[in-house]
Amino acid sequence: MPKIPVKVVTWDDVTNWTLKVAEKIKEQNYQADIIIAIARGGMVPARLLADYLGVLDVLSIKVEHWVTTAGATPEAKIKYPYTLNLSGKRVIIMDDIADTGDSFILAKRFVEENFRPEEIKTASMQVIKPTSKYVPDFFGDCVNEWAWFMYPWNYWEDMINLTKKIIEEIKRVPSVEELEKMFKESYGITTPPVSLDKILEEMKRRKNI
Ligand code: ADP
Repeated sequence: MPKIPVKVVTWDDVTNWTLKVAEKIKEQNYQADIIIAIARGGMVPARLLADYLGVLDVLSIKVEHWVTTAGATPEAKIKYPYTLNLSGKRVIIMDDIADTGDSFILAKRFVEENFRPEEIKTASMQVIKPTSKYVPDFFGDCVNEWAWFMYPWNYWEDMINLTKKIIEEIKRVPSVEELEKMFKESYGITTPPVSLDKILEEMKRRKNI
């Protein structure tokens, strides 16, 4: 069976980490005009940060990374690239997590070259210290051991991907009871954030199984 350390992230964790990012930004007195979310993972954190800082302009750029849940991370690229004139503006680029750091490196270069703002700072809720080539200017939580973090906006997608991995391994669709056991053994998930019968039902609707 595949063994992947998975941590279920709650909305309270999200609130605490994004508030911490906001505090650090305020401490440094960085006055941002615009927050740019790295879609999709950075969208909810960026919206919260905008609320905490009183920033009215939230934009996003979509970084495509052919990564499946807990899988390897190939190349990142900007999907739907566009040009903007942000001269004189101070921006924050926000993401959920810096894991390899590739998304940040790419997004920062893209914003510099295509939007030309006055200043860019980067922020993420979490950074995985041993794996990330890039450390954002502001982060809420520093992780010392790699894990897959299941964020509340990704519960369904992640649970489906984790179920797919099990199905690939055992080469059949397990019962809900079997799946529960395997989620514990393989991923250390004792209380799935979405019930596993709902996940199997949704996988049927999506014609995954
Ligand atoms: P980066 O490491 O720069 O964030 P990746 O390509 O590794 O870039 O990851 C891109 C996106 O994939 C992240 O913004 C996040 O949404 C998701 N992701 C990557 N690693 C993890 C992880 N360990 N836990 C949860 N989500 C992750």
